[in-house]
Amino acid sequence: MKKAVIDEKNCVACGCCARVCPRNAIIIHRGVTAKVEHSVCISCGMCVRSCPASLIKMEETV
Ligand code: SF4
Ligand code: SF4
Repeated sequence: MKKAVIDEKNCVACGCCARVCPRNAIIIHRGVTAKVEHSVCISCGMCVRSCPASLIKMEETV
């Protein structure tokens, strides 16, 4: 199943993705990057559209 994957190196931790996630699967870490908890992500894709820098993609995860 595809899950949201964030380009953490380029993320500026603006929090837009975390605010739209219906499952609160995205956590802002130390104010510098965002991380997705894949066990909670339901692959809705809303975060992908929310990122102003287009840093989130849906990718097949193991
Ligand atoms: S795909 Fe949906 S559930 Fe998964 S992290 Fe993004 S907004 Fe949250
Ligand atoms: S919306 Fe984009 S830049 Fe903002 S916290 Fe999420 S991944 Fe990072």
